Formats: sequence, C-alpha cells, structure tokens
Amino acid sequence: MPPSLSRRWPVRQLIAASSFILLVACAEKPTAADAQPLQAAPVAPAPAIVPPVMPSANPLDIQPTQTFEEWQAGFRKEALAAGIRPELFDRAFADISFDASVIRADRSQPEFSRPVWEYLDGALSPLRVRKGQTLIGQYADILQSIEQRYGVDRQALVSVWGMESNFGQFQGSKSVINSLATLAYEGRRPGFAHAQLIAALQILQQGDITPEKMLGSWAGAMGQTQFIPTTYNTHAVDFDGDGRRDIWGSPADALASTAHYLQSSGWQRGQPWGFEVQMPTSFNYTLADGAIRKTVAEWRQLGVIMPNGGEVPAGTGQLSAALLLPAGHRGPAFLILDNFRAILKYNNSSSYALAVSLLSERFSGGGLINGSWPKDDLPLSRTERMELQTLLSARNYDAGTADGIIGANTRKAIRSAQQSFGWPADGYPTHKLLESLRSQ
Ligand code: CA
Repeated sequence: MPPSLSRRWPVRQLIAASSFILLVACAEKPTAADAQPLQAAPVAPAPAIVPPVMPSANPLDIQPTQTFEEWQAGFRKEALAAGIRPELFDRAFADISFDASVIRADRSQPEFSRPVWEYLDGALSPLRVRKGQTLIGQYADILQSIEQRYGVDRQALVSVWGMESNFGQFQGSKSVINSLATLAYEGRRPGFAHAQLIAALQILQQGDITPEKMLGSWAGAMGQTQFIPTTYNTHAVDFDGDGRRDIWGSPADALASTAHYLQSSGWQRGQPWGFEVQMPTSFNYTLADGAIRKTVAEWRQLGVIMPNGGEVPAGTGQLSAALLLPAGHRGPAFLILDNFRAILKYNNSSSYALAVSLLSERFSGGGLINGSWPKDDLPLSRTERMELQTLLSARNYDAGTADGIIGANTRKAIRSAQQSFGWPADGYPTHKLLESLRSQ
C-alpha cells in the first residue's frame, strides 16, 4: 500500500479520494518494492493511507523541546492510559532509541521527480509480471476464497502485493515501534505518528506479532501489504485461521487484508479500473480534473474515443468516470472508474493507482498503452515548480504558497495561464510554460 511518507503505509484512510494527484507524485512516494534491485529508485513512503503533509510550517525547523527519554516517559503514561499494559510497553520499548535516519527520510524533499513513464517501466517490469502470473496460479485456491469473501478481483490483489512489497520480498527491516517513536518525538507529523504508535502497541498487546518481528518501513508501514498500524487494526484479517493476523509471514492473511481494505474502499468486483482513451483534436482540457466526473456515455458525447476506434468496455456506459492525463494532454489519457478510486485510497498517487491497474491487466497479457509519453518533457524539478508558482502568482494567477507542490490551486492557476496563451488548459506544469512566464 501506499504513500506519502516514505515508504508505504497501506491504507491511509485520511486521504480524500477526490484529491488525487495528477502529476508525478508517484515518483515521490515509492513503495517498498520500488526500493529494491528491480529498479533503481529512490523510495518513498508508504501507501496505505497516509495523510497529506501540511506544507505550512517548515519541517526542517522542527526542534524538540525535550529529550527522547523525557518524551518516552511522557508517552508511556499516555499509552498506559490508553490501555497498554506496563509490562507490554516496557518490553516493546526495551531497545528503542532515536533513529536519525528516520528523521532524514521524513524530511527529505527530493529535487527531481521520476517521470511517470519511468516509474511505470519499473513497476511493470517483465520480471514482476512473470512472478505475479506464477503466484496467481500458486495461490489460486486462496485467491478464489478471498474473492468470494470480499468481492475483490484476484489480479488486483496480486498486483497490489507486487507493488507494495514485491510479493512479500521487501517489507522493510526497521523496527516499527522504533521508527514511530522517533517520528512521534521529532517528525513532521507527530500527532499522526503518535496515533500510529498507540495502534502498534495495541497490535502487540493483541498478540498478532512480537516486537522483534514487527518490522516495516521507516514510516511505519508493515508487512507484505505495507499497512500502517491504524489500518491494520481496522482491516487486517486472519484468513488462514491460525489465530493471528500475520501480514508479515502469511500471504493468505496479507492478501485477504488487502481485499478487506479495497472492499471498504468501494471495490466493484468484475468492473474494470478504467481504460485508455483518446481525445478529439479540439477538446476542453479543463475537464481533465479528478473532481470532475461524468458518465462514460457523456464523455463519449464530448468526443472521447477508444484508441482503436472501438466501443468502450461492456457495461461501463453509465459508470461515473474522471479523465486522467498523467503527463498532460500530450501523453496517454484514461477514463478512471470506481476501482481506480479504491486503489487511490490505498495510496493516494495516480501514478501508483495506474501502475496497480495496468499490472493487474499485464498478468493476462493486457495493460499495454497505445498513447506515447512526452519523453522530451521531463517533470519540473522542485525548484522549478516553486519558481512556476511564484511567477503564476506574480501574474495574478493565484498559485497559493510556493511550496513546489502542484495542488488544486496551482493547477487552476496553470490552466488560467495556459488559456491566456491559447494553449490546451490541462493544468500540467511544463518547461514551456515556465519559460513563457519567465519571458513575459
Ligand atoms: Ca493468520
């Protein structure tokens, strides 16, 4: 699972599905599996439900007002008040110490984003596709039982499994208690880490796992599905019946837990995640916005066609769809449906959701993209995004705080500037736009 801190926390329930990021957010929120040899990527956070980082205060300026030991003593009282037994707390914290590497990861602000096409190349590697195909056969009985229980398609489950931990291979090797304690003490979002830490102690107290084996990413995402502790508490299940919800060691438990979460996120069994489309030569690109939804039939009336001129997938005509342009109007376009939005609740990155979606189709030979990516147009760097925001605001297109994050305000400002130039108003930040604003 998916997002924003750094490696994956599956299931982050705090994210509004409608706010998905149209840009290359994925590059900044890699999954645990991304960190691995399969692809040379920087890795980031975790999936499953990570709340958005508030850009307001400068995160690099955070200075604790107490020592780690003082913090721990205070937190112990809070944990005990929350029902954690003293002996359990003391055992869980027996070897805990401040981990500076966690803070460095939490505060890193990458200057460069990986282009979405490179991200997809890594996520959809032939090796990963083949391994997923093998596992779909190997776990056929379990996957069938999970489908029947939760109504979530097996290809999607195996795809999430591959994206989150490369099918259990890369789950993170840090002590979850240690990482979360460090983040609760000095991280950018101490309140969030505090809640996760209490949840992690509750998991230990329930006996699902021992402190020594409770391992995960620096951000506290755990196991084969990279669930954060609160998501684990609400959605992890014991599917193999051994009495423990073991998302670390039991593929059955991990896959069923993922299914349970996707079910709760609105998964519609048998429905496509969406499909690739093409736009007519003259199209109102301001409609390419996750917040704008129309039925597939309405999109068709607006001139949206299938890449090969065929019909849309059967039964989708009246489904609610949004238009996704991962690399702006020059790149491939997709209509995305409920199941895509369910995946976004796992990890709120459109690139991540696209990778999960396409990978799930690659297992049966599909998932290829007809459109071509604008590879001559690399994503803007963080510095360039901040400059773009500053220039937009200086020209009275309010881009909000120049924080380098392309959110709804900035996209709206970009669309206004694009319209003033007579360009397609897709809201996508490009070097051409930056240069035009510089010379204005
Ligand atoms: Ca179990």
